Amino acid sequence: MDGGIQRDSTGGASVIDGASGYLGIDLGALARNYEKLAAEVAPARAAAVVKADAYGLGAGRVAEKLYAHGCRHFFVAQFVEALRLRPLLAADAAVFVLNGLQPGNESACARENIVPVVNSLEQWHAWSGMAKTLGRTLPAVLQFDTGMSRLGVPPEERAALAGLVSAGGCIDVLFLMSHLASADDAESEQNEDQRAEMERVAAEFPGFDVCFANSGGIFLGKAYHGVLARPGIALYGGAPTAGRANPMEPVVSLDVAVVQTRSVPTGTRVGYGASHVTPGPARLATIAAGYADGLPRSLSGRGAAFCDGVRLPIVGRVSMDSITIDISALPEGRLALGSRVEILGPHQSLEDVARDAGTIPYEILTGLGQRYRRQYR
Ligand SMILES: *Cc1c(COP(=O)(O)O)cnc(C)c1O
Repeated sequence: MDGGIQRDSTGGASVIDGASGYLGIDLGALARNYEKLAAEVAPARAAAVVKADAYGLGAGRVAEKLYAHGCRHFFVAQFVEALRLRPLLAADAAVFVLNGLQPGNESACARENIVPVVNSLEQWHAWSGMAKTLGRTLPAVLQFDTGMSRLGVPPEERAALAGLVSAGGCIDVLFLMSHLASADDAESEQNEDQRAEMERVAAEFPGFDVCFANSGGIFLGKAYHGVLARPGIALYGGAPTAGRANPMEPVVSLDVAVVQTRSVPTGTRVGYGASHVTPGPARLATIAAGYADGLPRSLSGRGAAFCDGVRLPIVGRVSMDSITIDISALPEGRLALGSRVEILGPHQSLEDVARDAGTIPYEILTGLGQRYRRQYR
């Protein structure tokens, strides 16, 4: 120990003792979730979507763990993410860029052995132009818009693209893909509409494999699996289907330190704007995380922390760096400076926090900030 500074076991960076928040990441649970999803789609294979730093959990650590459990296909959203991830993985792992390439990234993409998703004729021309310049074949995935109007070759470009693909050339098309817009809603008609559209795409591009399902899509059944599924949120413990029991194991826990406690009389104003006034005598604790740490301001007066399984409601507004909770339900002295309360864990799931915040688990997970100490198990 060096004046309270020690080496972090995860990366060798210097960290200070006494972090204000601890983000636990259970790599064993992550691996079991991967194996469960892989079994669900077998004989198709399961890729891993590790965009946005593996939904905030650390793309390097997550990808290395999943590689050890047989995963060989890793999807990121942006080229810059692929550049960071690629050197961490063995050559037999493929890294795909879902958003495709910005003009000017083609040569770096080819050099770094990264596979772009081609989302338009324009991107096809840029990538095949690079292949011609280099005088070699380059790999690509073709994404089609089957009804989400976000990314992918639009229906009116399909015939032209099919002509270019069948003419042959220097692009090695690895597979066709599309993305489901409503897969978390098992009842949505859009799922079947998109599946039928993807079937038409596959007929127009004969001989190629299909990659289709995200987490929700995996649980829509075999017709959605193609040869490769692309789960993200389910790997990280999020519920693949809204409103149904979550079959995945939780991966993330979050404990936040108490920085101050106080006892207050009836009528005490709490927090910015005094949006809470104590209706009776109360004991309060201020904890060291706020909206800058990914606990949205919309949790003001709505969410809770837990201690010993006891619900401790958030009172008043969520601040940038702190939140005040009512701890009157706990025995006096149970919480003090340096104690920790549970924000994510056995008593409160990602879904619970997302519901209280009026958002989705994805946004909570990807927002969990950089000030927490990440502890991999
Ligand atoms: C984010 C994303 C996924 C993963 O979605 P989940 O719902 O997290 O499983 C899969 N495919 C594409 C194209 C995506 O953008």
